[in-house]
Amino acid sequence: MTHSLAAADPTVTDFDATIERVDGTDVVLEETYFYPQGGGQPADRGTIEGVPVEHVETVDGDIVHRLEREPSFDVDDEVVASVDDEFRRYTMRAHTASHILYGAGRRLLNILGYGGFGITNEKVRVDFETTTDVTDDVLVELERLTNRAIWESRDVAWEEVPRAEALDREEVAFNEATEEGVMNDADTVRIVTIEDWDVAACGGTHVANTREIGGVTVQERSNPGEGLTRVEFAVGPTGIRRRATEHRAALSAARSIGTSVEDLPEAVERLIDERDALEAEVRSLTDEVLESRLAELDRVEQDGQTWRIGVVNDFDSNEVGEKIQKRVGTDDDVIAVSGGGGRPFVVVASSGDVDANRVVEDVTDEFGGGGGGGPTFAQGGGLDADPEEVVTFLS
Ligand SMILES: [Zn+2]
Repeated sequence: MTHSLAAADPTVTDFDATIERVDGTDVVLEETYFYPQGGGQPADRGTIEGVPVEHVETVDGDIVHRLEREPSFDVDDEVVASVDDEFRRYTMRAHTASHILYGAGRRLLNILGYGGFGITNEKVRVDFETTTDVTDDVLVELERLTNRAIWESRDVAWEEVPRAEALDREEVAFNEATEEGVMNDADTVRIVTIEDWDVAACGGTHVANTREIGGVTVQERSNPGEGLTRVEFAVGPTGIRRRATEHRAALSAARSIGTSVEDLPEAVERLIDERDALEAEVRSLTDEVLESRLAELDRVEQDGQTWRIGVVNDFDSNEVGEKIQKRVGTDDDVIAVSGGGGRPFVVVASSGDVDANRVVEDVTDEFGGGGGGGPTFAQGGGLDADPEEVVTFLS
């Protein structure tokens, strides 16, 4: 049974170790400062006696270092081990940042519990069990509070406390699902305290002061399950890149519409209102044009009925169809219109005696295409004829 000293002493990255077991590429040390994957934090990288360490995990109570190749050293040998310092510093910063974000959540959200967290090379996620709707405003406020707490340079401390005592302390964020790695032995739990900000049971590696994190950039929010809100953020270069991308986009959008980033939301609202007003105006003008085109169509008397027949282009069959249904019956008994390029349409509205559907059937019998409708309105499309030919046929 070995345990990792990483969480207790996260700044130690170079150490001498004694080989306890070698099994192919799997190596167990008597004591190790490598962090084994667990509790949402990835395993450390590094080397043992110059051989790269591919993965570190806890197997049956032992911390197993999987090497890239079989080593030449053997049991009881003294070796030099080295944890990848850059990656370790990244996980320490990312991990501590997740505690700070959780602390910000405590101040802003109705928190029911801690839903877990995870670190990848690019980002960190924290899952909140909360009934609060995490809107854009809440998300930005979470980010702001987190960066404030980082700036405030709060001390981070950790200690082993009896498990029962930890469970009794109500302010401790404790998640059974991710406590793997929290326990060094069966009876104690590591409690990580960020000065006047957050207390959590956690077995990961942490920085000693929040200012070491630098800053966080919130990236996404999602709902991975019932009552869970996931917030993803980045620390370091990924976060800095993201902020630059967003800043560039905001400046470019503001410049395009001649305003400042601060006034962008109002300017966009104004543009949307203007667009809506213009759309309404265009609709009303289009309506007038169609109305006057229909009024100009030729009138013919056929079997005691007044027909208005003709070609109307630049409008689709639905627009024309709607309009002739409203018009028919006032000055005309039947209105029949053809239009459209390629495979034209025909629409027929009747106020009674003429069966509109029969008229459309006659047209499609003659010119192909298809259609249908009822006695007062029918339409056909895909006709193999010019609109003028259709009108001649109907007249
Ligand atoms: Zn932690």
